[in-house]
Amino acid sequence: EDVDVGAFVDRITSKFQTIARENNIELTSNIEQKGISFSLDPDRIEQVLTNLIDNAMRYTHENGNIKVTQAFGKDGITISVEDDGTGIPEEDLPFVFERFYKADKARTRGRAGTGLGLAIVKNIADAHHGQLTVISKLGEGTTFTLFLPSKK
Ligand code: ATP
Ligand code: MG
Repeated sequence: EDVDVGAFVDRITSKFQTIARENNIELTSNIEQKGISFSLDPDRIEQVLTNLIDNAMRYTHENGNIKVTQAFGKDGITISVEDDGTGIPEEDLPFVFERFYKADKARTRGRAGTGLGLAIVKNIADAHHGQLTVISKLGEGTTFTLFLPSKK
């Protein structure tokens, strides 16, 4: 389905604005170009973004910042969710996409969920021949990026 990616990302981000404000978190979507369509599965990709933003909110302290960005490349698109929250220890990064992986309670102040969100996100990315990558530094923040290839 052809979707206006900028509008799509803005719409999903805006669903989190109320809860962001309640937690003093600044949530912004930074859309490079507006009005460009891309063929994607809106329900599944919404699920990916929802999980990534939900995590960013959950693992970011008060007064934190979350940025959702989107860019077009020649082979496809990327959508990133960047936070300046707790970060993930380097030794844990290889495991974050596994089912039931959760950080220790001390870091998340007991707010970790079931540990399924990222496993679902990874499955959806794989099913769309996409890639999901994470860059994180403990105490500084985390960026998850979804790449979706253009359909040939
Ligand atoms: P669920 O999403 O099923 O409610 P969850 O959030 O614990 O539970 P995942 O979304 O799979 O599970 O994330 C796994 C773990 O990775 C989290 O418990 C947390 O420790 C870590 N994590 C995920 N996203 C972030 C983030 N943005 N910043 C810091 N840690 C994160
Ligand atoms: Mg989660």
